[in-house]
Amino acid sequence: MTSPTVTITARGIERIVSGHPWIYRADIADASGAEPGAIVEVVDRKRRSWGQALYSSRSQITLRMLTRERRPFDRDFLAERIAAAAAFRAQVVEGAQAYRLVASEGDLLPSLVIDRYADCFVLQTLSQGMERLKPTVVEILQEKFTPRAILERNDVAVRGLEGLPEQKGVLAGEDVGEVVVEENGVKFCFDLMSGQKTGGFLDQRENRAAARKYARGRLLDCFCYAGGFALTLATQCESVLGVESSAEALRLAQRNQELNGFANVQWKEANCFDVLKAADQQGDRYDTVVLDPPAFARQKSTLDSALRGYKELNLRALKILNPGGYLITCSCSFHVSEADLLEVIASAALDAHRMVMVVERRTQSRDHPILLTVPETHYLKCLILRVL
Ligand code: SAH
Repeated sequence: MTSPTVTITARGIERIVSGHPWIYRADIADASGAEPGAIVEVVDRKRRSWGQALYSSRSQITLRMLTRERRPFDRDFLAERIAAAAAFRAQVVEGAQAYRLVASEGDLLPSLVIDRYADCFVLQTLSQGMERLKPTVVEILQEKFTPRAILERNDVAVRGLEGLPEQKGVLAGEDVGEVVVEENGVKFCFDLMSGQKTGGFLDQRENRAAARKYARGRLLDCFCYAGGFALTLATQCESVLGVESSAEALRLAQRNQELNGFANVQWKEANCFDVLKAADQQGDRYDTVVLDPPAFARQKSTLDSALRGYKELNLRALKILNPGGYLITCSCSFHVSEADLLEVIASAALDAHRMVMVVERRTQSRDHPILLTVPETHYLKCLILRVL
């Protein structure tokens, strides 16, 4: 093989053997021959090959393993990985035109995200190596899907860790702006260029569908963004109130409501903590409450304050639910485990003097695959609870 090599230590090899694709800077013995973003052959001190990886000259995650195979990781190999990811989506994505086509590590394509919104594709290339492969990824998508547009939403802070600029724009095709897609029979308009993430929160699709089976009566959707839960559950409920702090998100929510012609939905621009507290104090009661806050624990060091945040939200929600009501409560913090979340809610239930039944324990939609040996791929928890 003619590719440059990077030599790793025994601990680096242990990482590979344990099934994790990341090798940290401390476990690199020699990377002097590698250029930033190169595909390198990973070798040990005896020059034995352990596979191929993307090399980063800047990140603490210095190597991201691509394959243990000796076959060069070339354009065909990359196209095969994308095709395999697409074939899996064909099996697991139901009733949706928007989904995550490639979920980086989860699809053995570390640091590459491709979200599909009907015939438009949005990329994120989050390492030096994937940034270099970006033109090839665009070509492969064009050949396989003949898309209307391929955009990049690389306006994310993690790119800074790689020494890459934050940028967004059109890589191929039209400057689409807004796209209307259907999910679980509801129409959603997403703004691919300026919406949050790549436009929408695709990881909650299956949870929105699951929640619909229980939703009823008066619904309060906290942290509603563009109305994902609110509008999916609206047909089952008498009235819906979606609460969100971003005026921009609520403009989308309003559009989405009009697209579907639902008359029983209202929006409120406010801090959800304040709204829940006021509802509690004023005796305002609901039959269904959704809590889908942003990640409170982005680092392990903020776990304690994050848990306090989750406790307060869940406590208030439990207090304002009528008997027999449902709480759909989520955490997208990787550092908060399902066990942590259950413990916090149990403590909230005791404080609220309510008995709570665990109806469903859920996670992210299957187009965001969880790898058994890569804990970071399992980040979303969604519990469906019934208050007795
Ligand atoms: N439930 C949504 C996704 C929610 S993402 C869906 O299914 O699509 C979390 C949202 O919470 C973001 O839109 C963010 O703007 C909003 N947010 C963050 N902090 C908030 C707060 N304190 N009060 C209200 N909204 C908040």
